[in-house]
Order: sequence, then C-alpha cells, then structure tokens
Amino acid sequence: MEKGGISVQTENIFPVIKRWLYSDKDIFLREVISNACDAISKHKRLISLGNAADEESDYKITVTADKEAKKLKISDNGIGMNAEEVKKYINQIALSGALDFIDKYESKEGNTSGIIGHFGLGFYSVFMVSEQAEIVTKSYDGSPAVCWSCDENGSYEMDECVRDAGRGTDVILHISEDETGYLDSEKLKEILRKYCSFMPYPVYFTQDDKTEQINDTNPLWQKNPKDITSDDYKEFYKKLTGDYEDPLMYVHINADYPLNFKGILYFPKIKSDFETPEPKVSLYYNQVFVSDNIREVLPEFLINVRGVLDCPELPLNVSRSYLQTNTYVAKVSRHISKKVADRYNYIFTNEREELEKVYESLSVFTEYGCMRDERFYDKIKDILLLKKTDGSFVTVGEYLDNKDEGVIYYTSDKQAHSYYVSVYNSKGIDVIEASRLVDTQFLQFIERKNEKIKFRRIDSALDALGEKSEEDGELKHLFVSVSGKKDESVRFAAFGEENAPALITVDEESRRFGDMMKMYGMKDNLHNSEEILTVNTASKALLRIKRLPEEIQKLAAKQIYMSALLLSRPFTKEETQDYVKLNSDILELLPVSDEAVND
Ligand code: ADP
Repeated sequence: MEKGGISVQTENIFPVIKRWLYSDKDIFLREVISNACDAISKHKRLISLGNAADEESDYKITVTADKEAKKLKISDNGIGMNAEEVKKYINQIALSGALDFIDKYESKEGNTSGIIGHFGLGFYSVFMVSEQAEIVTKSYDGSPAVCWSCDENGSYEMDECVRDAGRGTDVILHISEDETGYLDSEKLKEILRKYCSFMPYPVYFTQDDKTEQINDTNPLWQKNPKDITSDDYKEFYKKLTGDYEDPLMYVHINADYPLNFKGILYFPKIKSDFETPEPKVSLYYNQVFVSDNIREVLPEFLINVRGVLDCPELPLNVSRSYLQTNTYVAKVSRHISKKVADRYNYIFTNEREELEKVYESLSVFTEYGCMRDERFYDKIKDILLLKKTDGSFVTVGEYLDNKDEGVIYYTSDKQAHSYYVSVYNSKGIDVIEASRLVDTQFLQFIERKNEKIKFRRIDSALDALGEKSEEDGELKHLFVSVSGKKDESVRFAAFGEENAPALITVDEESRRFGDMMKMYGMKDNLHNSEEILTVNTASKALLRIKRLPEEIQKLAAKQIYMSALLLSRPFTKEETQDYVKLNSDILELLPVSDEAVND
C-alpha cells in the first residue's frame, strides 16, 4: 500500500478550492461526469486506432445516490486508469504555474471557477462537497485495479484492489455533513439535466432501485439539417427554452475546420418593445454543458437569440475574460453573423411568404443587426423588407421600382396619420410603417448608406401629391391672418379635388432634429414655429371661399386651418378653446327661420 499527502502544495490548494468555488458548487458533478465522458471517448478512440481490444461495450455513466450512507457514486466504463496513471493524473496535480497564480488571485473575489479547470483541478472540485473521495478504477490495459482514497485535507492512500465491474472507473464521494442536499434526488436530477442533458453517452441516475436516463445522446445540433424537419426544430426550441410559442426563425450552423463548431440559434418572438426575453444561448463542449448565456461568442445584435453552440475548440472551463479577448471567439462570432445573413437570404428567396408572416417581429433583429454589423448589412441589404400600411411587404428596391434612388414615404403612427395615409394612397403612393424607435433609426441608417434614397414622413411635404400652385395674394393674406403664421409658412399646392382643403406639414429635417432633442430630454419648441399650412387649391371648398362675404370668409378659412391642425396632431389647450369659439361663431351665422323664433 502506498500512502502519501498531496504535498505541501495541496495544503494550500484545498482551502482555496473550497473557498473559491463556493458560489458554484454544482459544477463538481459536471467535472466528474465530463471526465467519465472523456474516459469513454478515449476508449472508443483506442479501439478505432486498433490499440484496444474491440470488445462489445455498452458505454454508459451511472450516478448513484445513497442517502443513508451519504455517498454519491459516479461510474463509467471508459478507459480506466492504472496505478501509474492515478499517480500521474490524480496525485500529482499539475501545478507548476498554478500555485503562483492562485497566490496571486487568492485575494480576489468573484467567480473563479474557470481557473480551477485551467489547471487540471477539475476532479478536486469534489472536495467542495465531500469529506472524502474514493476512486476505484481499472485500466483497459489489463493492469490490476486501483483503489484510491483521499480526505479533505489532501492525504491519500492507494492500493491494488478488484473492480467487479471490470474496465472503468467509480468515483465515490462521501458527502460532507453540511452538503447532504447533494444526495437529494430532485436536486441531483436538476443539476444533471443542466449539465448532462445532451451528453454523448447515456447518463443514468439511480436511487432506491429506480433508474432513469437523463440525457438525449444525439441532440438536434449534431444531426444533418437534411434529416431534420421544421417541426423537429420547433420542438427542440420549446424543450430548450420552455417557450410555448414557435420561434420566428432558426439557423443551424455546422462550421467545419478550422472553426469547428455546431449550433442552432433561434429568434424568439419578442412580445413587446419593453420585454426582452431572457437571452440564453448555452455553450457546450462536445455535448457537455459549459455555460449559459455566452454573449461573448455571439454578435452583439443577436443578444436576444436563444439556442445552443457546441465548441469543442474552447476549453471546458472557460471564463468570461477568456472569451472576450480570444481571437477564435471573434471568428466564431463573425461566422455566426454570416450564417444568419445566409439564412435570411435563403428564406427570402425560397419562403418569402413565411418570412413576411414573422417579419414584423423579426425586423427588430434585422434592423439592429444592420446598424451594428456592416458585413451583415451588406449581405442582406437587397432583401430588407419594409411594411406597408396595408400590411404587405416590399423591399427598398421594389418600392423604388428597382431604381437606387428616390423617396420612400413613411408614417410613424398609422392611426394618427390615417388621413394623410388615405391621401397618399388616393394618389397611388404606398406608405411604409416605421413606428418603433429602431425603425426610424434604421431608415436614417439606410439614408446614410444610400445617398440617393430619402425617407420622408407623410406629413413632411406634400410635393408628391400634386402640383405647386401659383400664389394667390388675396388667399395668402386670408390664411396668414387666420393662422397667425409667417408669410413663408403658408403655401399653396393642388393635391386633389376630393382631398382636404388644407394640410399641415412639418419639415422632415427640423422634425428629426426636434425628435432628437426630445430623446435627449431637451425642450422641443417645434410646434407653431415649423408647422407649415399648405392650402389645397384644387379643393372645392377653396374655390368657393373667395366668393364668400368677408366676415364669413374669415371664419371659413379659420375652420379650414383648424381642421388641418386636427388632422395632424391633437390641439393644445388654447387651440381647443379657440376652436369651440370658432364653432359657436359659425353657428351664430346660420340663418334662422322667422317662424321658429316667433314660437
Ligand atoms: P482534467 O479533466 O481537466 O484533465 P481532472 O482533475 O478532472 O482534470 O482529471 C485529471 C485526469 O485524471 C484526467 O485528465 C484523466 O486523465 C484522469 N481521469 C479523471 N477521471 C477519470 C475517469 N473517470 N476515467 C479515466 N481517467 C480519469
């Protein structure tokens, strides 16, 4: 029998392990199970290389909880270890640089679970919850089995023994008095589901003679997209996220060498502007769960997508700071962005109707993505869809009849602008909806990218609707006096006999400026100063107005002005009072019959 202490060094290590990992003790189970998983993979590889006998193997990992004995056992039938290997891999923790590192970081707070893995201390994380750990292992190479045992202070014993089950390893944890929660079946299953749901070999949980399999060994992302139906994708999404609604879109990525990663990303339906669904893309390492919500690996604009990425190129214990500075990660992120754009193009070309059904929700991602990621914009710029007020969709190109210049008319509020919309539509001009903040930002972004394309809100100018009219001095004077506007703020245009006798417009640029001021919480003194009254010289009412007696003419002109205001925005308090007075003035003018008065 060999006895020893895991040396002076480990006297430092054990308390450090305990303290550091305090916040994330659960990972001990992942560490042990992923070792088991590796041990099985190694055995498979040896067979395929012809270096191990090709015996029939029902590979599996079994986790057994014995509440009474306070023991948790993790068994595998992988490669196993001989005595030399136990000494090398378990006793002599590879620590050369690690101790310095630990000295340096010992004082630092925070989640340092990443560090442990980097220094091959994975197995020792079991001491976060155990007062003693045993290993019973038998190598595939035929050497005698080894029993190894270590207490929480780092003194170990090891000896030859027999492992009844033959090749493989048992790790037996004697759970500490204050960690007996780790013998509770519900808690264990929860942890196992988190870390092992998609492990490549069956993982069983056993307690009180009941055994259940925890994982799906062949998760969707490992399959060939050709063999997956869209229902399969949706079902997987629901299982993964707990969302009951279908995702808007999915992207299945299978990147070859040198990136070598796989994954499925889902675009969830975001229910309102204010709700941001819990972002959740889980990172896996050969089907072993590594971490939740790894923003660092995703392009920023995909912050709300959900799904899985399996990156065997990244270490199992990966820290945030590692991801942030790693060049491989940056390449993965770029590749994801490219694949999302490819997928958009594919759906646009092959399933445009399907795309349009969800586009209103999806466009949050698209628009944000274009603004954040130049390459993404370049790849999808020709298929960007705009929603028309009638609910259908057009691309920028389609709106402009395939020209790369022109004006696109939009409304930021279909209800409030309903009259303008009907006037535009009556002239055969389509109006685009841009009601969210991201939409208006996006339109301006497209303008910056395409100097010859302009977006104009439908209440910004009426040029598109008809001819400019000759100024009529008399009418001009009339409308200037009833509106109190400056000369240059009263204009004339002929925009249809059937349309309103006047409309208010606000210059696009100054309105945008005002909106920006508002966004920064500054005062908006846009109203009255910049509102322009455009009188419709084609309207019947206007043709009549000139023939009215002077006092009535003034009331009629005021009525026309106030109606125009009302079509463009709610009245101010003064305007409301003004309007009520105007109406009673008009009523006073109505002829009354003599009989009625006499009654
Ligand atoms: P890491 O897994 O990061 O190398 P660990 O401390 O978890 O560090 O494990 C150290 C080594 O011990 C492993 O690399 C492996 O060689 C060996 N080992 C651990 N668990 C097993 C197991 N179940 N079967 C075979 N070998 C194992």
